[in-house]
Amino acid sequence: MVQVAIVNGSSVVQDADVQDSVAALQIQVSRDFAPIWGRDAQLAFSPRNTPVPGGTWELLIADNSDQAGDLGYHELTVNGDPLGKVFAQDDIANGNSWTVTASHELLEMLADPWINQCVQNNKPDGSIRFYALEICDACEDDLSSSPTGFSRMTRHHTISKAESTRRSPFSRTATSAIWMHSHRTAGNS
Ligand SMILES: [Zn+2]
Repeated sequence: MVQVAIVNGSSVVQDADVQDSVAALQIQVSRDFAPIWGRDAQLAFSPRNTPVPGGTWELLIADNSDQAGDLGYHELTVNGDPLGKVFAQDDIANGNSWTVTASHELLEMLADPWINQCVQNNKPDGSIRFYALEICDACEDDLSSSPTGFSRMTRHHTISKAESTRRSPFSRTATSAIWMHSHRTAGNS
């Protein structure tokens, strides 16, 4: 099974809060995501400054985005391992929940870890459109009143692959030698 280290590299999020989120994310991945998307994962909290073992995927909780307007994205490390990033301080500054960004990036990383999947849509007018398999973009939202911050995302993640991909815009950005896809943006509620 895929191993994912949830690393707290943020100065504004306590380790205990990240550990709580890992428990909730594990339920979301194993109970809600895996039966539909076919990939389960074992999540583990990792304290800051602790090396992540080779072959382990990583979701890094950081402070500030290195991509303007993005609250999170996933990419590949130089070794080819999937790496998701969540920018907690930016999330908080924009009135969003970093745990929702964490959920968003984690699930998209699991659905398309190497960022090379897309879906072809043959439209009735004869045109063809391709959609990146970024399963959370179509429904991304925050729900500040949720006790866990996950309920709305959980519900949306149960929509079918077809619906999810049909509504997702195709967008990819090449950076250096890797592909990166920006996902959760500051402009959304
Ligand atoms: Zn996304």
